[in-house]
Amino acid sequence: MDFISENASSLTPSLTLAVTNKAKEMKARGEQVFGLAGGEPDKDTPENIKQAAIKALNEGATKYTPSVGLPALREAIAAKLKRDNGLEYGIDQICVTSGAKPAVYAALRAVINPGDEVIIPSPYWVSYPSMVQLCGGTPVLVETKAENGWKITAEEFENAMTPRTKLIIVNSPHNPTGAVYSEEELRAIGEIAVEEDILILADEIYEHLIYGDATHVSIAALSPELYNLTITVNGFSKAYAMTGWRLGYTAAPAEIAKAIKLSLDHTASNATTFCQYGAIEALNGEQTFIADLKEEYDFRRQYVYDRLSKMPKIHVVEPKGAFYFFIDTTELGMGSLDLCEKLLERYKVAAVPGIAFGNDHAIRISYCTSLDVLKEGLDRLEEFCKKS
Ligand code: PMP
Ligand code: GLU
Repeated sequence: MDFISENASSLTPSLTLAVTNKAKEMKARGEQVFGLAGGEPDKDTPENIKQAAIKALNEGATKYTPSVGLPALREAIAAKLKRDNGLEYGIDQICVTSGAKPAVYAALRAVINPGDEVIIPSPYWVSYPSMVQLCGGTPVLVETKAENGWKITAEEFENAMTPRTKLIIVNSPHNPTGAVYSEEELRAIGEIAVEEDILILADEIYEHLIYGDATHVSIAALSPELYNLTITVNGFSKAYAMTGWRLGYTAAPAEIAKAIKLSLDHTASNATTFCQYGAIEALNGEQTFIADLKEEYDFRRQYVYDRLSKMPKIHVVEPKGAFYFFIDTTELGMGSLDLCEKLLERYKVAAVPGIAFGNDHAIRISYCTSLDVLKEGLDRLEEFCKKS
């Protein structure tokens, strides 16, 4: 008897988590490994945030909260969305979740019917297609081009549309390419979404990690029509180095927020109570951590870009946000899984195969690791490129 559901059978492993965990295990066994795979900041969570959670825990914040989160946290999120993104949401439009990943999933669950098509620009963050499939929807992958900075154009969006199209996922700054959509590009995409009545899931988890002359624009803030079509997803993992705390949120039109709330009521319930107090402090307290993180990552980004640009047989587009480089490895002439395995086994460098993001001719490396590790890891990658 086949016990596994069709939905579950369609899933493939999350290679971002698999490679990162393998590198961590190798390190724990005392093996030397230069981890360039990770998708989490190398810094610890700021002390003021930790202390706020510890205080809450000591004071007995150990019970359930509303499944959509503490009102005080939703107020802090509403204030943040207004301050940073020019977005006005009432607290009933905000749902706190156990990470941005569950926020994306809860959002999709709230709006996707079996057979609905979801447009996902490819390369894409590893989990989007699987989440769409779990909802019974059909992921429609639209190849983006390096020469367009890995961004979907309005024309490509329009061409991918069918009568079944329900939603498009816009992730800016983008994982894995580091692409950042300009206001003009978002307006062009938004215009089509409004014309065709297509929902938008805006994953803005990397909004603060943005470099040079790039600026972050929230598509929901561009017009009342777009506000009514957009579910904005964000969280605490990247900006405040809180990946293990598991905290994220959605901000959506009231009707969609209500549907997300109902599904959280019956599935996850609330994000960990004392962690929510840490999140309130993250948003309301001192923000210097973000500026420092950004400055340091920008320095590393420039260093890595300079190194990669000079390496033989590989090509990169300068990333303007997040903390990744998506490296075109076509000239190395092997599939991305083979390539990453060789790189790890022989050169002790961990990178994520591009196939995890829908492109088998690329690998992703992260620069959310120390300069020493980056330098040695890149020396080894260079050696690998020369010898391959
Ligand atoms: N969206 C993107 C684009 C991501 O890279 C990640 C990575 N973690 C998430 C969502 C999920 O974040 P979280 O750790 O808060 O679940
Ligand atoms: N989002 C990060 C990454 O892409 C963390 C791993 C994950 O959640 O998939 O590496």
